[in-house]
Amino acid sequence: MQEAQRIRELPPYLFARIEKKIEEAREKGIDIISLGIGDPDLPTSEHIIDKLVEQAHNPENHRYPTSVGMLSFREAVAKWYKNLYDVELDPKKEVVSLIGSKEGIGHISFCYVDPGDINLVPDPGYPVYGIGTLLAGGKPYTMPLTKENGFLPDLKAIPGDIAKKAKLMFLNYPNNPTGAVADLNFFQEVVEFAKSYDLIVCHDAAYSEITFDGYRAPSFLQTPGAKEVGIEFNSVSKPYNMTGWRIGWACGRPDVIEALGRIKSNLDSGAFQAVQYAAIAALTGPQDCLDEVRKIYEERRDIIVEGLNSLGWNLEKPKATFYIWAPVPKGYTSAEFAELVLDKAGVIITPGNGYGEYGEGFFRIALTISKERMQEAIQRMKEALGKVEF
Ligand SMILES: *Cc1c(COP(=O)(O)O)cnc(C)c1O
Repeated sequence: MQEAQRIRELPPYLFARIEKKIEEAREKGIDIISLGIGDPDLPTSEHIIDKLVEQAHNPENHRYPTSVGMLSFREAVAKWYKNLYDVELDPKKEVVSLIGSKEGIGHISFCYVDPGDINLVPDPGYPVYGIGTLLAGGKPYTMPLTKENGFLPDLKAIPGDIAKKAKLMFLNYPNNPTGAVADLNFFQEVVEFAKSYDLIVCHDAAYSEITFDGYRAPSFLQTPGAKEVGIEFNSVSKPYNMTGWRIGWACGRPDVIEALGRIKSNLDSGAFQAVQYAAIAALTGPQDCLDEVRKIYEERRDIIVEGLNSLGWNLEKPKATFYIWAPVPKGYTSAEFAELVLDKAGVIITPGNGYGEYGEGFFRIALTISKERMQEAIQRMKEALGKVEF
């Protein structure tokens, strides 16, 4: 039987060719260093694991959770926002738990998008914004993120008729894959734009805590008026090394939070309560682990940026995220360069076009392996490529 149009229309899987090559190399016993996957290699803290174990033994947690999350979890999120960003949230109306923020990012389009509707989606960007839009029957409208604009969308370049029709605008700062950050002035422009066109802003703050050199990223919800136009997605995944635990949240504008909760109550019935207790332990427990994590990624960032610069690149050190976004040398497409680096150096980098057409000409490196392996990767690239030109 033929599959439904909505899944047949999903974009082709761009990394398939590289993945096949990795498999071939591994079969031949070649040592591959992967700078491809944005998934923390560090373990979750012991006190968080202990909380999960303790709560897993409690039969009260073996039953269905509520779909919007335990009130104590939502209170922990509200307190975390108050402490870190001085943002006030009503845990009963302005926070909903998610099975990882990806789940909510994927589902939010089902709340607002009818077939043919438009969502504004950054390119390059996390693929789920566009995919969620397509699955709901909508059309993603690309907001190009270019180096010239500091990888911020140019809101003035969005045609008025598109903006009028648009339902959601997805944003993500600190940004995956570019490592760019946004300030409150930009967020203020976004709030004005959203108000004038009556659209909902969905800010993805997955990397809010992964910041360097003393820089602190603002929350979108710190912007005056933000809670009237939008929500913010976040999770314990990246800051607390908990990607496998699948627990996150959306917070902000109450009717949007309620709509997301309604979709969830009809689809997934929420997250395992023992996992919610573990997330509470992460959010309310000792926070020195955040400084440790920042220090580790900062050191790794310096190794990659300084290493690539010694090969001929001219990169600035990003202020946040665990990604380095770099241009490919002259004469290559993103896919060709990624293939060359894999073939000649046994190093995996992610071709930028995997994040959208405006990612063409770039590649992404994830800082989620040890310093030693990174140094080895740079050394191998040096031997394989020599000096590169742009
Ligand atoms: C990792 C990531 C997420 C999703 O993380 P969850 O584990 O689902 O909370 C969301 N957005 C971006 C940009 C990411 O890189």
